[in-house]
Amino acid sequence: MKVFKFGGASVKNADAVRNVGNVLQAFEGEEVLVVVSAMGKTTNALELLATAYFENKEEKHDIYKQVKIFHEEIIKGLLHNSSSHTYDDIENLFIELECELENSPDSNFDKVYDQIVSYGEIFSSRVLSAYLNEAGIKNRWMDAQNFICTDNTYREGKVDWDITGNLISKKLKPIVKKQMVVTQGFIGRNKDNFTVTLGREGSDYSAAIFAYGLDAESVTIWKDVAGVMNADPKKFPDAIKIDAISYPKAIEMAYFGATVIHPKTIQPLQSKNIPLLVKSFVNPTAEGTVVGVSKEKEVHLPTIISKGNQLLISISSKDFSFIVEDNLSKIFDAFATHKVKINLMQNSAISFSVCVDNDLNRVNQLIQFLEKDYTIKSNAGVSLLTITNYTQETLSKHLQDTQLLIEQKTRNTVQLVVGLKA
Ligand code: ASP
Ligand code: MG
Repeated sequence: MKVFKFGGASVKNADAVRNVGNVLQAFEGEEVLVVVSAMGKTTNALELLATAYFENKEEKHDIYKQVKIFHEEIIKGLLHNSSSHTYDDIENLFIELECELENSPDSNFDKVYDQIVSYGEIFSSRVLSAYLNEAGIKNRWMDAQNFICTDNTYREGKVDWDITGNLISKKLKPIVKKQMVVTQGFIGRNKDNFTVTLGREGSDYSAAIFAYGLDAESVTIWKDVAGVMNADPKKFPDAIKIDAISYPKAIEMAYFGATVIHPKTIQPLQSKNIPLLVKSFVNPTAEGTVVGVSKEKEVHLPTIISKGNQLLISISSKDFSFIVEDNLSKIFDAFATHKVKINLMQNSAISFSVCVDNDLNRVNQLIQFLEKDYTIKSNAGVSLLTITNYTQETLSKHLQDTQLLIEQKTRNTVQLVVGLKA
């Protein structure tokens, strides 16, 4: 049994969806579960819609219309059987969303966000499933929310692995054995029956959750790149594809900002030894990258990962106390309650510095909270560079034209927080 994940770029227009059909054709007769993301940039548009709805702004109607027209265009270019139920099904889904926008929103923004933004995956999976059926690739549409059970952490749902694993292996597996199934990435449901999303770009993670429950032989993430590269080719033109890497190395790369794989994806796969293949949907027969080889088979290329839009926060006490256990525990607690993830930290006797994603909303609230007891200095617009298998030469090259703010070295890896030279 194989799990395939197709991201937004792979279904961004009618031609792209047709190409997904071509990729899938080659696997006819095999047991395949397809996990699909929202089409193109739909999630971004739905985020704006959720905000406009929450803030009761008139522009919600325009954003809704744009999302609707975008999908209608794709459907027009794809489905030729106008008596197909899909038109009605999708029309009904849009009516459902429009009605939802007329209700007064819940007071919890994150909950509202999940109820609105999740429509993107429902639309895309409906369209893909209908198109494939029309093209002769028989499949069944299933709602991922019936299988992926989460807690109530809206926008970052935590999966209940026991219930989810059981449902997938008992209820979904027999269906996938009979025919191809098309389902959604990114979404699950909590015990109160509300949709909970798994965090932005979370469809890779969904694919891993399904593979875990199905005991799949592999997961393939179909991308518009050839595989996992040793650096971002947009920033580093000499970047090359990595043929094979171990799970720990992939976790590290994803965690420190290689956007090709969602960081949470690897661990469920590693726990069952399920390989993850990253392949090109443009060139589906080419070998991509295999994640999950043993450390010995891993190719040791230097890798350079740059995580932009970082904020460096430096925290020191107002009462001249040292930044040791008591203060650190208070500070960590504040980060956890405000859901701000720490990408790198460093402490000295009198101050504690952390590098975090500059998610304005959460970070501003955190800083306001900390300012009651601490003096806070912050430095916006910095980047976190993680370089593995480095040499002095690679380091000097990356430090040209930048201002080094923090440097942390271990034998194989160096992490640098850098800003632009003043
Ligand atoms: N559509 C969601 C997003 O753009 C999930 C995904 O693409 O993985 O974040
Ligand atoms: Mg997406």
